[in-house]
Amino acid sequence: MADVSIQPKHFLSDKVERFTESVIREMTRQAMLYGAVNLAQGFPDFPAPAEIKRAAQEAVAADVNQYAITWGAKNLRNAIARQMKEWQGIPVDPETQITVCCGSTEAMISTLLAVCNKGDEVIIFEPFYENYGPDAVLSGARPIFVKLRPPANTDDEWSFDERELRAAFHNHTKAIILNTPNNPTGKVFTRAELELIRDLCVEFNVLAITDEIYEHIIYDGTQHISIASLAGMAERTVTINGLSKTYSVTGWRVGWAVAPPNVTNAIRKVHDFLTVGAPAPLQEAGAAALGLLPSYYQSLATSYCARRDRLVPALAEARFRCFRPRGAYYVMTDICAFGFTDDLAFTKYLVKEIGVAAVPGSSFYHDPRNGAQQVRFAFCKRVDTLDEAGKRLQKLRGLRKK
Ligand code: GLN
Repeated sequence: MADVSIQPKHFLSDKVERFTESVIREMTRQAMLYGAVNLAQGFPDFPAPAEIKRAAQEAVAADVNQYAITWGAKNLRNAIARQMKEWQGIPVDPETQITVCCGSTEAMISTLLAVCNKGDEVIIFEPFYENYGPDAVLSGARPIFVKLRPPANTDDEWSFDERELRAAFHNHTKAIILNTPNNPTGKVFTRAELELIRDLCVEFNVLAITDEIYEHIIYDGTQHISIASLAGMAERTVTINGLSKTYSVTGWRVGWAVAPPNVTNAIRKVHDFLTVGAPAPLQEAGAAALGLLPSYYQSLATSYCARRDRLVPALAEARFRCFRPRGAYYVMTDICAFGFTDDLAFTKYLVKEIGVAAVPGSSFYHDPRNGAQQVRFAFCKRVDTLDEAGKRLQKLRGLRKK
């Protein structure tokens, strides 16, 4: 018989060698292991709105239990189109421009698989939500990173250098991934910044893929602007959003991509063969969710602002430097005061010895050294959860710089 010994990598794709498992989701497992307060993965620990839970129960009871149309239940697509018009003034045809997916995570990877050829470049602002790196690898694209720089004064905004951004665009650029409000920095891109990005997209014939999952979670009078609403962008933008963050249902896995019809056709093909469809009864509940009154969104933003203002002072008291978020539900911090060589050692110490789980900053950077003195905390938690974390974090005050 031939030698059947199997090399460890024999059955594996080269692609999977090029990224690791999600650090964010690993931190949740560690939080469970050590009984730590989980301020790592961004999911709420409070209930979803009663109306939408009821709508989900009713859909199951009414036997909406078989496949929906592969690109999304009509009720939900109509509701998405209505909301995009109402909130951002963007006209969308629900028949030809929307693909409902299993979460915005699937919407992003389906989009990249639908638009990228091997060797295409995709521009990503860094720090970035960790999925975008593996998404680019899986779709054969080459990620090109452009830095978002932290402000000298933590109350100011993260910003990018216009020349650095321009230098990232050229012939092979297929797309730019935007995420506003931004995870992990809390930055909300301004109209002027979006116009600059628009001008470059038009000049270099580049697609904007914009993840707007935190659209409704904004603070301090900040305004969220969809790049698709800017002149010249509707025909070159894929807008990604979902139920998870706005309606506190991250486990439902319902998201969507809104794009011009020809791009939508391609996304729908990939989506169909990847997952066939998102959960049918939860899509009906999604249609009900998108019909909630404007006061729902106001109180969502207000309650998140109160949570931010609860956690940030506790972190500051424990000697974290906190970059004030204007949107989304994370606070990026600088951990210089604690004298740890890197963020991994620090978050390990935090979860094991202090009893709080956070995400090491390096998981948001291509080169881990750039995030070695940063750590992200999520504040999408009940006030008593935040207070318990705050109490535990005060133990760090006794920690002296080594
Ligand atoms: N967006 C969430 C975060 O950044 C997690 C999303 C996920 O784990 N799929 O923590």
